[in-house]
Amino acid sequence: MYDISFKLVVLCPTCIILGMTALSLMLKTSAASLIPLTAVTEDKPNLIVIICDDLGYADVGFNGSKDIPTPHIDSIAQEGVRFDSAYVTYSVSSPSRAGLMTGRYPQRFGYERNPRYRPNQLEIGLPLTEMTLAESLKKVGYHSGIIGKWHLGAHKKNHPCNRGFDEFFGHLGGGHMYLPEQLVHEDSYQIHTESQSYRTLIMRGHEHVKTTRYLTDEFSHEAVEFVKRNAKSPFFLYLAYNAPHTPMQATEKYLDRFPDLKGRRKTYAAMVSAVDDGVGALLNELDKQGIAENTIIFFLSDNGGPEPHNSSDNGALRDGKGSVYEGGFRIPFAMRWAKKVKGGWSYEHPISSMDIFATIAAYVQAPISQPLDGVNLLPYLEEKKKDAPHPFIYLRQHDAGRYALRHGNFKLLNFTKSKNKKVELYDLSKDISESTNIIDKHSDIVEQMDKKRLEWDKQLIPPIFEGLNSGRK
Ligand code: CA
Repeated sequence: MYDISFKLVVLCPTCIILGMTALSLMLKTSAASLIPLTAVTEDKPNLIVIICDDLGYADVGFNGSKDIPTPHIDSIAQEGVRFDSAYVTYSVSSPSRAGLMTGRYPQRFGYERNPRYRPNQLEIGLPLTEMTLAESLKKVGYHSGIIGKWHLGAHKKNHPCNRGFDEFFGHLGGGHMYLPEQLVHEDSYQIHTESQSYRTLIMRGHEHVKTTRYLTDEFSHEAVEFVKRNAKSPFFLYLAYNAPHTPMQATEKYLDRFPDLKGRRKTYAAMVSAVDDGVGALLNELDKQGIAENTIIFFLSDNGGPEPHNSSDNGALRDGKGSVYEGGFRIPFAMRWAKKVKGGWSYEHPISSMDIFATIAAYVQAPISQPLDGVNLLPYLEEKKKDAPHPFIYLRQHDAGRYALRHGNFKLLNFTKSKNKKVELYDLSKDISESTNIIDKHSDIVEQMDKKRLEWDKQLIPPIFEGLNSGRK
């Protein structure tokens, strides 16, 4: 995978030709110097990544939800592709987002813990040596905006607008209160606790602004406005809802939609329904602007649902957020790219959130400063390639000494800090819930897979900063 990505960057002949064509055009006509490079080069689709926070695998209609209708989110899967086996790179928020934003396993650069909110500590956040997706796309003329949750470091140097984004409307920390009257702290850099970080004013760029709407509605409104402002040039919109992460808060408008649900599940359903409304408004705006066909949309969750905390539902998957079982890091995932990819089907092979970076970067020939672990999905979705994009999907949880490795339908789990160094093997095609350990029947497969795990592990480094839970059991 390393070699392939490097070839994209270093040896891309079309890129050089396009660059030379653009340069010669600019030299020939003085007016050309006023034309952005993107107007000279060809097709540049817009990219929208909609990510939810702690959304359960089974809590969208396209994955079988019965009690929470999500018609707009489902339309992305129906008109595009639903991915059965999509993974994030970690089963909690921040490392998962680090993987998405860099196209790499975050364990490679020591990003393996949820960071504490520390605006005065640069090392607690995404290392400046890692190129972000927004930084890469900026080099080929994209205008990028993040709306919602950042959670990749609270230091000013790690502010989204210093990491490739042109616009930011959101919060720096790992979660937020949803009701505007609860947002009272006027400076995100002057607070140092998690609970305070949930109550900062929303930032627009580097400024703090007073908001008036339920936060999910605020983010949805802003997303629509972003599209209106940027419809005429290639853009990357990273719409990172903090919903349906705790605190469990919803407004009557959404709660009233679920008269048959009770307690926390009712609030959770309302929070998801608010996201679905926002997705609907965003899709509608793309249609209005006439850019839906040439906009790639990804929808996913950042990790599995923490079922006991927010009443999410991971369906048949075992466990949830934080786990190395499927419920931890196999997530709802859909993609629509009407211009290039046929709609209305499911893709079975395992894919990763890291593939978002690799797919768009390959298509628009964006420079990449580091080898990606993500894979360009387009040839697979066009069915030019039939094999598995990821022969292996990996997860390491350094502190807990836990590993997961998926290969085809087999899933190997190593609990290296457990008594007897427990090892488990499951066949997900027959046992999606990882209930029957079949290690005794497949010692050869275990040996091969474990060899691969150890090879991968050697490429990683230990965590580089203390985490939210460091020092706790
Ligand atoms: Ca999360």
